[in-house]
Amino acid sequence: MGHWRGGSTGRPRVAVVGAGFAGLAAARKLARQPVDVLVLDKHNYHTFLPLLYQVASAGLEPEAIAKPVRSILRRAPNVGFRMAEVTGVDLSGRRVLTETGHIPYDYLVLAAGSATNYFGSPEIEAHSLPLKELTDATILRSHALSMLETAALVDDREQRKKLMTIVVVGGGATGVELAGSLAELKRHVLPDDYPELDIESEARVIMLEALENLLPGFPPRLQKEALRQLQRLGVEVRLSSPVESAEDGIVRLGDGTTIQAATIVWVAGVKASLLSEGLSEELARGGRVPVRRTLQLESHPEVWVAGDMAYLEEKGRPIPMVAPAAIQQGAVAGENVIRAVQGLPLREFRYSDRGSLATIGRQRAVAHVPPLQFTGLLAWVVWLVVHLFWLVGFRNRVLVLVNWAWNYILYEPGSRLITRPLRRQGREVREEAVGRGVAKP
Ligand SMILES: Cc1cc2nc3c(=O)[nH]c(=O)nc-3n(C[C@H](O)[C@H](O)[C@H](O)COP(=O)(O)OP(=O)(O)OC[C@H]3O[C@@H](n4cnc5c(N)ncnc54)[C@H](O)[C@@H]3O)c2cc1C
Repeated sequence: MGHWRGGSTGRPRVAVVGAGFAGLAAARKLARQPVDVLVLDKHNYHTFLPLLYQVASAGLEPEAIAKPVRSILRRAPNVGFRMAEVTGVDLSGRRVLTETGHIPYDYLVLAAGSATNYFGSPEIEAHSLPLKELTDATILRSHALSMLETAALVDDREQRKKLMTIVVVGGGATGVELAGSLAELKRHVLPDDYPELDIESEARVIMLEALENLLPGFPPRLQKEALRQLQRLGVEVRLSSPVESAEDGIVRLGDGTTIQAATIVWVAGVKASLLSEGLSEELARGGRVPVRRTLQLESHPEVWVAGDMAYLEEKGRPIPMVAPAAIQQGAVAGENVIRAVQGLPLREFRYSDRGSLATIGRQRAVAHVPPLQFTGLLAWVVWLVVHLFWLVGFRNRVLVLVNWAWNYILYEPGSRLITRPLRRQGREVREEAVGRGVAKP
């Protein structure tokens, strides 16, 4: 047995925190090398986050975008896995702290990713739904569908409209993709599923963006195109509309206006995992950990940080929090651990930017693959090819790909199950609607 479980093989012990894009890329580099590796994650699965919005908008089943870490690592005899929530790192004692015991290491790769950033607003955190993990997506899907089920009970038109309104806050790629696919769900699926509701005139998808444009970081032409495509799908986009606060079923904008919406989705920001705190005297923007070009911690060179948690600049600009950057960094971190073990000089990280893509519904997208810009169907085909190849590598089964494409094109009804109990804000909105005496007998 290679990886350590209390006993030791005498080989260097490498702990990898996080089985996301960066952590798995590091583990792959460490596989079959003369080290004992333990990967830790709070979930027993890896999540393909770029398609999370598809689960949230009932386009794909959760199983289509997640895979158990143990099965991914099965073929690497020196790499083990432990499901555990990491609570901190004892840098001087060289131990990873978890709720189920402390794990000593010789080398550490930290790749715990990022978390939703509510910019210090407890009200927004309490009254909106995030989209950062697989469970967030199933909760959001169940919540939105439960609100429709409630609307089907209600006679009062205003109440029904509120129940059928989804506000997506944040016009970055995740928000744009989510709003687009919710609009398509509204157009193509919900009218048949809910014949008793007037989906077309009463259901709304509203997108709120604080800045003047959608998709920050994309070229202006693609930002405008994304806006046009979303509007064509029926999304009500409000630019320059910062959200001030939220209450149960109400969004309050900076200019004092309010929007009644039973489903408020907050995808307006991310910040590095809380594990970043204490790793460096000063954290960079978004709570990210500044690292050397070799991805090591300045104060502890036996620790590497990769992915969304790490802060490094390329050509004077921060490396973005995106999956390709995380994969590239994880691979370099893993390789550098082996080089350190072997006493070889370490590699410096260089980010290779492959461009940015965002889909808008099922047949439209915008793609920036410098110096090229694509829009519409062509961009969507680029997006599909990129993601299908990526997914194939991930799931490694053509059959799954065919199944996935089938669900994707035909809106497999299994993905529209309500599988989660309502969270507090959902229960309150439902009770308010049904308890006001406006429910149908
Ligand atoms: C909805 C959504 C859509 C996105 N779409 C795209 C896209 O289309 N293209 C793109 O390039 N990027 C996209 N991104 C960004 C991309 O997913 C991230 O940049 C990337 O996942 C970062 O990789 P990572 O390894 O740093 O973190 P992650 O992939 O997030 O992995 C972190 C891992 O650490 C685990 N973890 C976290 N905290 C702990 C803890 N305390 N203890 C134990 N385990 C822990 C998590 O469970 C997770 O498995 C998207 C992100 C989101 C949220």
